[in-house]
Amino acid sequence: MSSNRVSAPIVRTYREFGARQSPLGRMRGLVRKAAVAGLSAKASFKGQSWVRFPCYHHVFADERKGFERQLQYMRTIGEFIPMDDAIEMITGGSPIDGRYFSVTFDDGFRNCLEHMMPITAELGVPVIIYLPTDYIGRDASTPSDAERMLRFYPEDPKLVEFLNWDECRSMLGHGVSFGSHTVNHAHLIELGADAITDELKRSKEAIEEKLGIACRHFACPWGKPVVDFDPAVAPGIARALGYSSFAASNRGAMRAGGDVFMLTRDHMVADWENFQLRYFLSR
Ligand SMILES: [Zn+2]
Repeated sequence: MSSNRVSAPIVRTYREFGARQSPLGRMRGLVRKAAVAGLSAKASFKGQSWVRFPCYHHVFADERKGFERQLQYMRTIGEFIPMDDAIEMITGGSPIDGRYFSVTFDDGFRNCLEHMMPITAELGVPVIIYLPTDYIGRDASTPSDAERMLRFYPEDPKLVEFLNWDECRSMLGHGVSFGSHTVNHAHLIELGADAITDELKRSKEAIEEKLGIACRHFACPWGKPVVDFDPAVAPGIARALGYSSFAASNRGAMRAGGDVFMLTRDHMVADWENFQLRYFLSR
């Protein structure tokens, strides 16, 4: 009937996306949540000055409410600024005079257009989306593309739609900017310097050519220092290629004079409660 031979359904909700959690995993999650609830009561932002980079991956249809609530909550803690301003604030040589958030999204999923942007544009929250350029424009109804998309999560294959270049371009006027997340969503720790250079260079060129913007920012796939990239190698390559920042995925705040080629980011999921955000964002 259909020429689409790939049987996996397109994931459209967070429920479908995260359906695999075991009962034990769920139990651990609940215990952790209870511990965080206790600790968050003591958390305070008083006297803190920093820039933080919330790191999201998706806003599925069933995450919109939670995502909006989280942005509203963060707004009570600090001010939202674009990535260029955040980097300038950290490197500019002046003390940081308050608390700032610069929201980041990895992977370039289409749900950023469908469910993220209506909320961020409405609230005036700037966002940078890091694109793995070879996935951009792949179409789940084309079997070879669908097979490639399924392998985006090698350990747990599932089909999540990506943005295409026209969609990315259409987002530019709505507070959205774009950075690189390699060409192939590459695991940089497994690559030599030449291959890393290739991933960072070709993705930057593709974004600049397709979108007509400067691609100044890079986020490392998975992003854990030592585990997913060599801190002595990859950030230096990014710098040499003309990037202005290199984002990792270890948690924490950035302060004036911090190393923007080792940006810490706070991983977040839209269904977390405000007390969970309060705990992670105050550490
Ligand atoms: Zn990624």
